[in-house]
Amino acid sequence: MQNPLPMVSHTGGPPGSPAGLWAADSQIHLDGFRAMIISCQSFDLPLRDPFTIARGTTTIQPTLIVRVEHEGLVGWGEATTNPYYGVTLQSMQRALASIAPRLASAPLDNPAEIWAELDGELSQCRFAQCALDCALWDIYAQMHGVPLWKLWGFDADDPRPPTCYTIGLDRPERMIDKMQARPGWPVYKIKVGADGGIDLVRRLRQATDAVFRVDANCSWSPPAILPLAEQLAELGVELIEQPLEADQYEAMRAVKGKSRLPLMADESCQVEADVDRCIEAFDAINIKLVKCGGITPARRMITRAKQNGLQVMVGCMTESSIGIAAGVHLLPLLDYADLDGALLLAEDLADGLVWDRGVCRLPQRPGLGIQPRNEVLERFSACSALG
Ligand SMILES: [Mg+2]
Repeated sequence: MQNPLPMVSHTGGPPGSPAGLWAADSQIHLDGFRAMIISCQSFDLPLRDPFTIARGTTTIQPTLIVRVEHEGLVGWGEATTNPYYGVTLQSMQRALASIAPRLASAPLDNPAEIWAELDGELSQCRFAQCALDCALWDIYAQMHGVPLWKLWGFDADDPRPPTCYTIGLDRPERMIDKMQARPGWPVYKIKVGADGGIDLVRRLRQATDAVFRVDANCSWSPPAILPLAEQLAELGVELIEQPLEADQYEAMRAVKGKSRLPLMADESCQVEADVDRCIEAFDAINIKLVKCGGITPARRMITRAKQNGLQVMVGCMTESSIGIAAGVHLLPLLDYADLDGALLLAEDLADGLVWDRGVCRLPQRPGLGIQPRNEVLERFSACSALG
């Protein structure tokens, strides 16, 4: 893996110019009432296969890993970059630099309170907010000596939905190869384009009896939804994700309740305020931690959605197991899961998640329960030396 960018480093008090800070070296050391040491590192994550959706193809996924050290404990968080949402490594690093001095004096009594305290600044970059929030929840659960799911009162045998395994757009025979590389997986998510993917799904259906979900990534037109839903239902498709552009709530309201298949918002449901916009327009929402700003708002979104009759998925943005782990702890709350990001990578950044035919075991280690691999730890170690 290559690290194409200069990384963060600052030792001592508040940072000066963010640009200078981030270009200089690789750490922020904060000496407050309870010192927190925050580090960031970027990684380029090669994908197992080129990943194509209606908007384009990805072969390498850049990601930012955030490490927070507090009272001898270490918490980890992650946010990937995303051109659709305008998020770069630099924008995330700038956002974290802007709040670093304030975080120095924040007691870690409740990660949700820190989230609220810093939201004024971090709302400009929800992805960075997510990485920090996940790292703080990781430490917080470690402080209590339990896995995060246990801290929230879940039981190990609580029902958990299986995650789908996502098949990017490709030639049908290649898509079948990708499905067969995960034999016995109970649900596959099929990326489709503007044509609705009927012929494609028909081909894939010949290769498996598994449940299909279809994700259009905003590529359909309003008149296409109902007829496509009818045909896809006949092919064993379970739901349709984001058929129209993100702002097309009115057009979605016109088809809600008429569609043969449930309609799920993804690009239309980015942050907490979007849940209410989706109530009358969709049947379900796909919450992604990086879009909304982390575990803290995601839990509120799940509650709000369920109170209003929306089903809930937690999805991902091709994170490694460091980012995926945060979503795994939410599984007992969910109707659907799309937490396959780490499985799409050629090489993962952490150990600790185990999948059994689509169902992820709840981690047993305290906190998020992941253990970054040596490559990650060495990269952070090298950065520490710079500080
Ligand atoms: Mg989607």
